[in-house]
Amino acid sequence: MNDILLNQIFDILNRNKLSHAILIESGDEESRLNVAKRIAQAIVCSSEYKPCNSCSNCKKAAGDVHADIALFEGGTTVGSFKVDFVREISRDAAILPNEADRKVYILNRAETMSVSAQNALLKILEEPPAYVSFILSVPSKSAMLPTVLSRVTVYSLTEEVTSYSADAVKATETADSVLSAVIKNNELELLKIATEFEKDKNALKMCCAEIYRICSEALISKLTDKDSENPELALSLSSAKLIKITEICDEIINSANANMNGNLLATLFCSKLIS
Ligand SMILES: [Zn+2]
Repeated sequence: MNDILLNQIFDILNRNKLSHAILIESGDEESRLNVAKRIAQAIVCSSEYKPCNSCSNCKKAAGDVHADIALFEGGTTVGSFKVDFVREISRDAAILPNEADRKVYILNRAETMSVSAQNALLKILEEPPAYVSFILSVPSKSAMLPTVLSRVTVYSLTEEVTSYSADAVKATETADSVLSAVIKNNELELLKIATEFEKDKNALKMCCAEIYRICSEALISKLTDKDSENPELALSLSSAKLIKITEICDEIINSANANMNGNLLATLFCSKLIS
């Protein structure tokens, strides 16, 4: 569940574009806390493609024992996430990380912060030490002050995202078909796949995110001589072509987010991949 959203966030992180303060919104507390912990793990991971799940930072994070990941939680009532917690975070944030390059604070049930706690948090969100990341976890972003919201990037695990999981399998399959068409230089096949995207921009975005992930992994395996998840791809395409494909995916996702129309996006997608 939520794998697509996580993969998208990991991609953003791997491109060094993840905001230092993010907010995860979901009515399902267990899901959103899991997602927050997976993101924290990726942030402290010391491998090039994060999270690797095998470095010591990843292992400690998975066991909830990483010294640079701290979880602060409110209770069930407003005000239970005390301003004292925020002061403690502020003091602790001034100390350099122990083992990782970054320190991560997960603030669960941040909606139970009093206004004074949120205002205290705002100060650190505005000028955090360069090595600090914050992940706020709330049932709904509407519980946070607009000033706090203006400092964070919101990711919603809404029903739409949850129902993504069936679509996620489809995105992976489609990404494989697209890459196989690119390897064979089969323009007709690619056009056929792209026709389906004309009416479904979201599917196109998800497919591009997945292609980006697969190509980044293949590229890293090429550069480091490690085994790839997808050996055929690593063998068939040059590093330059793999980089170009990730750039195309990036561009398509940005254009889709900027509301470019579906027909145009699908055409661009094909012409850029085959050229
Ligand atoms: Zn790792």
